[in-house]
Amino acid sequence: MAETVYGGKYDVIVAGGGPGGLPAAIAAARAGMKTLLLEQHAMLGGLTVSSMPLLGYVDRAGRLVLGGIANEIVTRLQEKKASRGHVTDPTSASLTLINANWMRILACEMCDEAGVDTRLYSRLTDVKVENGRVVGVTACQIEQHVYYETAMLIDATGNGTAMHFAGAHYERNQILMPGSLEFAIGNVDIDAFLRFLEENPEDAKLPDTYTVTQSMEQMYNRNGFGVTGLMKSIEIARANGEYIIPRDCAVLVTTNEKDEIHCNTTRVINVDPTDTLSVTRAEFEAHKQVESLMHFFRKYIGGFANCTLNYIAPFFGIRETRRIKGIKQLNGDDVKNCRVPKDSIAMAGYNFDVHVPGKVTTVIQPVEKAVGIPYGCLVSENIDGLLVSGRCIAATDEAYGLTRVMGTCMGVGEAAGTAAALCVKKGIQPRELCPEELRAELKKNGAIVE
Ligand SMILES: Cc1cc2nc3c(=O)[nH]c(=O)nc-3n(C[C@H](O)[C@H](O)[C@H](O)COP(=O)(O)OP(=O)(O)OC[C@H]3O[C@@H](n4cnc5c(N)ncnc54)[C@H](O)[C@@H]3O)c2cc1C
Repeated sequence: MAETVYGGKYDVIVAGGGPGGLPAAIAAARAGMKTLLLEQHAMLGGLTVSSMPLLGYVDRAGRLVLGGIANEIVTRLQEKKASRGHVTDPTSASLTLINANWMRILACEMCDEAGVDTRLYSRLTDVKVENGRVVGVTACQIEQHVYYETAMLIDATGNGTAMHFAGAHYERNQILMPGSLEFAIGNVDIDAFLRFLEENPEDAKLPDTYTVTQSMEQMYNRNGFGVTGLMKSIEIARANGEYIIPRDCAVLVTTNEKDEIHCNTTRVINVDPTDTLSVTRAEFEAHKQVESLMHFFRKYIGGFANCTLNYIAPFFGIRETRRIKGIKQLNGDDVKNCRVPKDSIAMAGYNFDVHVPGKVTTVIQPVEKAVGIPYGCLVSENIDGLLVSGRCIAATDEAYGLTRVMGTCMGVGEAAGTAAALCVKKGIQPRELCPEELRAELKKNGAIVE
């Protein structure tokens, strides 16, 4: 049996190095906290390194609604020629294309600069709570279990694993949104693809469940465009026994690289993200779907005849797991009224976007302008010493469709890390922190909170 060794005492521990965790760790370390970042994989970035576009930066009103670390990441990627910045888009409101490999490099660079003590290959396996307050965590590392003490824990695992171990109250739907394995296709003749869409207008149509728009005009934007559809070709391929994906349409977005298209189209229904066997089966099924899709694109879609499989995301993407029961919760009414409450700590500037649980469809509805996320959505209603970031903040299904995207998770992440640092400095618990003080600190650091 591997023994558990003592790893030291930290001010802030962040579990998970994705869009919710990375800015949290950087913000806490920049604020002078002794910060530990635990990441189970061999690289940082979570789903930002899947080659998908970042969503949520520019809202439908055309305003840049993410500043601070989220914006710094894009600017620094632009300096590395790894992003062309933000493009407005009628379907997604905005697209921010980034190169996944450069994102991995930048994530290491920013953590090192900030002085984050990072442990890769480190899966959080337990949380110690005393008198209702988190006091430490255990991580399984390459050949040992390590126990670390902490004043503050930030759960940025996506799945809400830390809050689960801590005994925090949370919500989890019985049937969850389906997951997908993301991949990028190279050597695509984009001009031929656009000609194909012009000649096959049925394939350029959005599904009826989308109440946003899509036009050929937007697709001529060489800084980036998305196409949702190919439904006619899918129907033909399915009838020929050559399409196995349980999804009504394909979603394609150009990447930062020439002649490359990102494909967000595989779909595995009824996956339990907290069950290793279920996720392993999903990985296998999704890899099979990638092969099937490559065949489909080459045979049925103009411009793809000689395409290559350039990149498969490092892990299967989970859209939904647990959400904390916070001292506040963002809801559908907040989204409908585009509310920006006085205690907002980040702005959610995307659409309502739900991959219907158990179904082949996706529903996308526009949200006129960005909605404010109140600080209390990051604060557990029953456990002290704990904040959450990324996709596990407190939101109802209607609001979650908006808050779950990567840009928004980064804005939330900076707020979580900054809040943790303020709590440690003041010797208080997250529920006692005055949101106005947090907002002032975030604004000072360039974040956009209203
Ligand atoms: C298939 C799919 C397509 C999507 N498309 C887009 C899109 O095009 N654009 C967009 O902006 N958003 C998109 N989203 C939404 C977005 O990617 C996620 O909601 C977002 O990445 C959530 O951020 P996160 O940091 O909470 O989780 P993640 O990105 O999943 O990061 C969590 C990190 O925590 C680590 N971790 C998990 N458990 C542990 C543990 N126990 N110990 C240590 N580390 C752990 C993981 O390895 C990972 O690095 C998509 C989501 C999915 C699933």
